[in-house]
Amino acid sequence: MCYTIPALVENIKNKSATISYFGERKTAVCELTNIACGDYVYAQGGYIIEKLPPDEAKKILITWEDLFFQLQELDATRAALGSADISSDDILQGILERARQGVIPSQSEAVKLLNLESVASRGLVRKTANYLRQQYHKNSCCVHGILEISNYCVRNCAYCGICASSNVTRYRMSFTEIINAAGEAIDKFGFKSLVLQSGQECGYTIRELAEIVAAIKARFPVLIFVSFGEVGVEGLRQLYQAGARGLLLRFETSNAVLYEKLHPGYNLDSRLEHLKAAYAMGYLIATGGLVGLPGQTEEDLVNDILLTSSLHAEMFSFGPFLPHPASCLAKYPKPLEQDVLGVLALARLMCAEKTKILITTAYETLSSLAREHGLMAGGNSIMINVTPLKYRALYNIYPHRAHENETVALQIRQALAELKALGRGPTDLGS
Ligand code: SAM
Repeated sequence: MCYTIPALVENIKNKSATISYFGERKTAVCELTNIACGDYVYAQGGYIIEKLPPDEAKKILITWEDLFFQLQELDATRAALGSADISSDDILQGILERARQGVIPSQSEAVKLLNLESVASRGLVRKTANYLRQQYHKNSCCVHGILEISNYCVRNCAYCGICASSNVTRYRMSFTEIINAAGEAIDKFGFKSLVLQSGQECGYTIRELAEIVAAIKARFPVLIFVSFGEVGVEGLRQLYQAGARGLLLRFETSNAVLYEKLHPGYNLDSRLEHLKAAYAMGYLIATGGLVGLPGQTEEDLVNDILLTSSLHAEMFSFGPFLPHPASCLAKYPKPLEQDVLGVLALARLMCAEKTKILITTAYETLSSLAREHGLMAGGNSIMINVTPLKYRALYNIYPHRAHENETVALQIRQALAELKALGRGPTDLGS
């Protein structure tokens, strides 16, 4: 099973290639030296990651030819807005109509959208977000694998179950275990994009982490995102040189005062400097914040979305704060699913064209239908946990994580069935 279909290289100049999926064109960076016009390739996150033998590519494309267009049609039908999709609230109707024409809601309008009380109004915002997602990104949905290589951490984030002061049993996957798990995800299960995640200063030095990235890149065709916390500008450079091309690093909250309260000894500026340095180096940026933090306001959430956009995020990663029973925030409630959905939908309205919006595992933990709801509210990216089962429960950042005990094969089966039912293609197409 593959999570992106082969593309045909139509044009290539310097390191920029035009590739085509059944006639739909996209630009991709080509760092491989053996690619020429007429080749078939896999691309991910805007990077060409692998060349395929033409016969193999054509065989795969034959299986996709009809399905590709059928899924697009189903998605377009489901995402269409009808004559009944009109609000009796004139202000809301105006905001949504303008959003459909590409006008970004102002900050005060955005706050209004987060504060809507009527079920019908909230539903209409989500439908509009889904409409915009379809208009700009068609039915593509990225499927990344995430491998949690260690739960060691030196930080004491107030909400996190694996923070330094927690008494969770610690693990650090060995070099061989990491290579084997990555290899299984890529070779056996077909992932084209992997996130390697851990706590900060996770028991491996930056040099060792870079060796791990380089070893995976040397063995397998894959786009690697790193998510090891604040590794410093030199650390980012070493990881990039080793082959990492994406950084997943949430700023958690754009409210600097709240940030410092929740992250003793750290500040928001340093987090943002990392994200800016990474972007300048050429990393794809995945970032965002927590929704429902104690003390967080709707204005903060709107600022979170604006900040994510200003950081050039190619993927928005927003998920709920889930109280960990052993943390000092244990007594605070988790947000309602509808509030998280409201943020995802607003993010799509405010950044319709630019970005992928991730349906996070934390959000999926809120209800069994959360993934579907998120995908129908502007979301177009999901993650599948490929961490070996024996370590999953130890990556205990919050309780009752969705899919915690599910094998990779089961998660994939479920995800692909859900995507198919919604008309989504597990591809990396779109603008
Ligand atoms: N060390 C890396 C870093 O600093 O980004 C990655 C590991 S950290 C555990 C990954 C993410 O888990 C954080 O960005 C945070 O948003 C999320 N997280 C931690 N505790 C959480 C909780 N109780 N509820 C929801 N998300 C949580």
